[in-house]
Amino acid sequence: MLEKPLKVPELLVPAGSLEKLKVAVDYGADAIYLAGLKFGLRAAADNFTETELDEGIRYAHEREVKVYLVLNGFLHDKDLSELPDFLKYIEKIGVDAVIVSDLGVIETVKNHSNLEIHLSTQASCLNAQSAKFWKNFGVTRIVVGREVSLSEVKDIKAKVDIEIEMFIHGSMCMAYSGNCTISNYTQGRDSNRGGCAHSCRFQYSLEQNDQKLSSFFMSSKDLNGLSLIEEFSKAGVDSVKVEGRMKSHLYAGTVAKVYSEALNEFKNTGKLEAQRISFWQNELKKFTHREYAEVNLIEKAGADTVYFERENENNYGMLGRVLEVKDEYFVMQVRHAFEVGHSLEILPFKGSPIKLDIQNMSSLTNEPIERTKPSTLVKIPLPRERVVEANYLIRGFK
Ligand code: SF4
Repeated sequence: MLEKPLKVPELLVPAGSLEKLKVAVDYGADAIYLAGLKFGLRAAADNFTETELDEGIRYAHEREVKVYLVLNGFLHDKDLSELPDFLKYIEKIGVDAVIVSDLGVIETVKNHSNLEIHLSTQASCLNAQSAKFWKNFGVTRIVVGREVSLSEVKDIKAKVDIEIEMFIHGSMCMAYSGNCTISNYTQGRDSNRGGCAHSCRFQYSLEQNDQKLSSFFMSSKDLNGLSLIEEFSKAGVDSVKVEGRMKSHLYAGTVAKVYSEALNEFKNTGKLEAQRISFWQNELKKFTHREYAEVNLIEKAGADTVYFERENENNYGMLGRVLEVKDEYFVMQVRHAFEVGHSLEILPFKGSPIKLDIQNMSSLTNEPIERTKPSTLVKIPLPRERVVEANYLIRGFK
């Protein structure tokens, strides 16, 4: 009997800007999600102008990467009136699907376009009955609520023939997938229309008589499902999603690289060795993050999923990127200062990081430089025996 082929989910990575889209595509994403200037839930992110959308979609499609556009705000009537023209525009430039949560928005998408509709996690679809309803309503893919476990997804897939997308990595929301108004009350910012101020990450105090208790009791650890790729495959998940449209270039590049390498290795060999998982987990620690947990993927999240600490900036981060490569040196666009004697790591699109000890460097006019300055260009001798390409990210201690 022929063995059933392994199901390997699509890797869906966020992009908060055109540059981040290019980084995620170059480092291995199968699909990107992003937002235009209106109708999304991340008003503060670097959302895309129409020109940027156009360029981003072209860049992704030329590399066979899909682009989904987020329209997941809960809209009032006055916002809805502007939507049909925008839908016609994004359909024309080739958006592959829209991610929607509001019923009124779904109706508008159906009435004014032939765009594929993915149901946002904001709609909190947690069961097969609900999935059946959304399928009959015209939705082709459901981003299940982050409260759903892998075994529950397996059941939904067995009962309903619909694509399922599930979060595999990133920050969690303490409320039911964003249905929360803490920011509205504490900051005057509407979470359901793009204004979440991450109020659940703050430290809160409780005072009674002479006693005072201060704690970050509403902050969640970050989701990390890298070790569960086989379970995602067995559950029949069609797409694994990374959270974080507002996160850094290094985050976009690293998560795209790690998860695409892991998914490809699983596709080719049918397993993932513990040693490889430990290498990738270490890579996922090389940008700012909270402690990792599998949150709801296997068992329901409990007290041990709360992150009782203040978030700290990681002092290891992106130092710059390779702008161009010449015969014996490359030009680096510097983002954070470093000096001669420092050890850097170049992150190739494929394969292991390239270590580079800086012994000398110079300006574009060949003046020796001891310490770089942010937003400048420097020439650095190429490392031996390793190929360096334009747009590789460079990381190290800041
Ligand atoms: S404040 Fe926290 S719980 Fe509320 S929507 Fe924002 S991330 Fe979610």
